[in-house]
Order: sequence, then structure tokens, then C-alpha cells
Amino acid sequence: MYGLAMARGLLVTLKNMTKKPFTIQYPEERVKQHPRFRGEEFVWYEERCTGCASCAKYCPLGIIKIVTSPSESAPRQGDKYKLEVFDIELQRCMFCGLCVEACPYDCLFMGSGFEQGRYSRDDMVIHVEDLRNSAKNPSTFYRPQLEQSGYDPRGGRPLTWREVGRENWDWHKREKAGLRLIGTDVNIPSEESE
Ligand code: SF4
Ligand code: SF4
Repeated sequence: MYGLAMARGLLVTLKNMTKKPFTIQYPEERVKQHPRFRGEEFVWYEERCTGCASCAKYCPLGIIKIVTSPSESAPRQGDKYKLEVFDIELQRCMFCGLCVEACPYDCLFMGSGFEQGRYSRDDMVIHVEDLRNSAKNPSTFYRPQLEQSGYDPRGGRPLTWREVGRENWDWHKREKAGLRLIGTDVNIPSEESE
């Protein structure tokens, strides 16, 4: 009986020896990622962010910290706040994407990178400067406008804040008249000065 079980085991081995392997030799080889893949990073467009903190409120783990101050360039009601702190404790994130779903202005996206290994837990916290400097290749997760355009975050070019929203720029200009677009050469005049 013992020999029979061994023979059966060897038969399974022989059968699978002839099959094409499913595995690849990472990191030399990589499988193609789906554009909706939720990676270990976030893509944020400061120009679109109002500081509403909806992303922080909807995070079920409470790992997003946002501190804002009134923007001196856009003091009118309905305009954006200035982001002082925007921290995400990546080491506790479960990549559910609820923060992205909650963002009403299409400024927070899941990223598609996943090689973010760190030696220290403190290094796993993403700060506002990291978000500012992150590569602008957003995942198409919960962003049908990107998916419909066929955008591939792993192969496509970086997208600007003007290209990632569901609404057209005219809407943004009308609703956010007076805001100063940080890090760009665009300065939208207020309605009074138009
Ligand atoms: S992906 Fe989920 S757990 Fe991670 S920060 Fe967003 S809401 Fe929180
Ligand atoms: S990322 Fe979106 S939800 Fe979060 S503060 Fe900015 S506008 Fe609000």
C-alpha cells in the first residue's frame, strides 16, 4: 500500500512536469497588472483638493489625518482650504479604497505601485510632501472616466490634474473662482476681477 501511494504521488509530479508554469521569475519578470489594481500608494492632486476631509471621515480605520487652515488666496465661502497636514498611515491601510470613493473632487486616487517595503513603521507614514511628489499615474479604481479612456497606469504617461476629473474644467473654474493653483502657473481670477 505504501509503495502504491508513492507511485501515485510520482505520477502527479510527472504529470505537472510537462505543464507550462504559472509562476514567473519576479522581479526580472512581471505579470501585467489590471488598470484598476489598488497598489500600496496613493496619487493626490493638490490643485483639486479642497481640504474637505471626506477621505479622512470615511476611512474605516481612521488612519488619515488632515489639518487645514483658511486659504488667504481663496477666502470666500465654497473655496478651498490650505492643507497643512495630510498623513496616511500606510502600514495600517487595508487598501479598501473607501477614501478614494468618498473624495468628491476626484483628487485622491489609489496608486498602482506595490514595492514600498520599509525597515521602520514610522517610515510607512505618507506625508503631504510625499503625496505632492508622488508619481501621477493613478489607478483607474472607482474612476470610470479613466477606465473609459483606456488609461493604463503602468504603461501610460502621468496625468495632470486637469485630465483626471469627471467634470470639465469650466465647472471647476466657475465653482472655485479665486483659488490659487499651487505648483502651477495657473491663477484663476476671482469673479469680481473678471
Ligand atoms: S484605502 Fe481604506 S484603509 Fe486605506 S486609507 Fe483609504 S479608506 Fe483608509
Ligand atoms: S483628498 Fe478629496 S476627500 Fe480628501 S480632503 Fe481632498 S478633496 Fe476632500
